[in-house]
Amino acid sequence: MTFDLKLYSDQLAQLVAQPSVSCSAPQWDMGNRKVLDLLADWLEARGFQCELLAVPGKSGKYNLIATKGSGAGGLVLSGHSDTVPYDQNRWQSDPFSLTERDGKLYGLGATDMKGFFPAVLAAIDAVADQPLAQPLIVIATADEESSMSGARALVELGRPKARYAVIGEPTELRPVRMHKGIMMESIRVRGASGHSSNPALGKNALETMHGVISELLTYRSELQTRYRNPGFQVDVPTMNLGCIHGGDNPNRICAECELHFDLRALPGMDNDELRAAIDRRLRPIAERSGTDIVLSELFAGVEPFEQDEHSALVKACERLTGHTSEAVAFATEAPFLQSLGMETLVLGPGSINQAHQPDEFIDIQQLAPAVDILSGLIDRFCIQPDTAASEPPVSDKRN
Ligand SMILES: [Zn+2]
Repeated sequence: MTFDLKLYSDQLAQLVAQPSVSCSAPQWDMGNRKVLDLLADWLEARGFQCELLAVPGKSGKYNLIATKGSGAGGLVLSGHSDTVPYDQNRWQSDPFSLTERDGKLYGLGATDMKGFFPAVLAAIDAVADQPLAQPLIVIATADEESSMSGARALVELGRPKARYAVIGEPTELRPVRMHKGIMMESIRVRGASGHSSNPALGKNALETMHGVISELLTYRSELQTRYRNPGFQVDVPTMNLGCIHGGDNPNRICAECELHFDLRALPGMDNDELRAAIDRRLRPIAERSGTDIVLSELFAGVEPFEQDEHSALVKACERLTGHTSEAVAFATEAPFLQSLGMETLVLGPGSINQAHQPDEFIDIQQLAPAVDILSGLIDRFCIQPDTAASEPPVSDKRN
């Protein structure tokens, strides 16, 4: 079946026309229901059973689980339905009206990642005449760009269940089996103010923070000595001190100081253990200085992700794309889906280079190959799942 660009563009135009910004800033944050309603309509017309699941505690936010076929195996094709905010006056065209220029489709979310869903629909249409021996499940999540509350809610629910999951984030159709985790943390030091002429009149939070920062930097070098992964462009875990606020006047002892930092762990490291280790290191500083030091998370964090290079899904995606799997610098919902017991991989059309910025576009040239890869995955894991176990190695690829 040849790729129907007009149908693809029509569907993407409708998805883009429904704003679904998710953002920690409440003035930006929107619901995603209308995007999911469109997807549910299209999937129901293709024989899928669709469930809209409200994300607990997040009004107007939903996850969609659309299922066709049944069985213990099967494949999940997953995308997020939200986008980041936008700078309207820096766009050359309306971000909510899909516009074609020079072989590219421009619109907010075109590449990250509303553009994945019409490619999934086209792949479903391409193999529609063949019965599914194992289920095909399409999911669309809420809030990936902000809190990842959609993916967290799915983990709580223990769904979806399948053997394999592909997340269609823009990777230029290269299979991605590793990314770093991310934590964003705050350290707040509370001392006591007083007249600066006599240090005994207060407890200087800024000076305590000086000790905190040296301890963090020491810990960072220890981590970077201990952990290294040559699959990543930056092959060590990183910690960035992002902002600091404290004090008011030169002649007052600083009573409060707060530092925000992030930590991006490599696969094999664990966010909770890192947080506990940092907290342990802060205790003696608090005792010595007589101040209060509180470590807290600014958001719930995303664990590092790695899918074994020998797993059936990685092999199949490497064969279908002709590319060896790699690592990326951005975090995804992959660790959440993997924690549900599925082999998980990130692979989709479009480039992260066009994401999160004005004039976001998806390159039309990537679309037909994306549909071929997705229909190949459906064939491999849902239509002819028995051949999945005998996947030939990627070096056997001859075309
Ligand atoms: Zn994305």
